[in-house]
Order: sequence, then structure tokens, then C-alpha cells
Amino acid sequence: MAYCLTKQRQVILQVIRQSEEHLTANEIYLKAKQILPTISFATVYNSLKFLKDAGLIAEIKFADSASRFDKKVSRHDHAICTKCGKLIDIELSFPQELVEMASKLSGFKPKSFGFTLHGLCPTCDE
Ligand SMILES: [Zn+2]
Ligand SMILES: [Zn+2]
Repeated sequence: MAYCLTKQRQVILQVIRQSEEHLTANEIYLKAKQILPTISFATVYNSLKFLKDAGLIAEIKFADSASRFDKKVSRHDHAICTKCGKLIDIELSFPQELVEMASKLSGFKPKSFGFTLHGLCPTCDE
């Protein structure tokens, strides 16, 4: 690894990588605190920014809720449950033409794109 990570940052990265979920900053803070009881929320917050800028984690933002952090940094998409908030990864491949069409329609030069499926997860749909 090209980055020199402080103990706090290592712990935060470990928390994210060991989780099967997409955690919020607050959830990461609570888990990191179990390993490093002295860690502060500000340190977690700053470390998340650092790790994101370093490309080691990804941040997923939804307009009306807290950001979630993702250990998976390669392009992928998500499905979110509108009832319980469960967020899972989905692997989809998009045809290049779709990206080109979106670019043409908007006049924007594409940098990244994403797809989010909103609906009920299997547990909530029972
Ligand atoms: Zn659900
Ligand atoms: Zn993800």
C-alpha cells in the first residue's frame, strides 16, 4: 500500500472492509470505538474523507439520508430498500451506447454513472 495509514485510519478501513453492510459514518464510529475507545467522531469523519480521497473506500450519497461507505471501489450499482434502508450491491454492466446516449442528451461529459434500484427487500416484501 502506497499510503501510510495512522492507527485510526487502519482501524476505520478494517471496520469498513470487514462489514457486509454499507455503513454510515456513525455506525463506523461506533464499531471503531469498540477497537479504539479513545477515537472521536471528528477523527472518524476526517479519516473517512482521507480514505475516500485515497481511493480506498467509496462514499454513496443519497439526497435525504446519511452517506454510506463502501469497501468496494470498482464501479457497481445498488439496490436500496425503501422500508428498512437495507443497501446491497448489484453487478450490472451497461452498454457503452447507454452512457453515450445520456451524454448526448445532457451535453455532459461522463465521468461516472450509477444505477439505484429502489424497492422492497425480500424481508420487507414478506
Ligand atoms: Zn427492507
Ligand atoms: Zn456497494
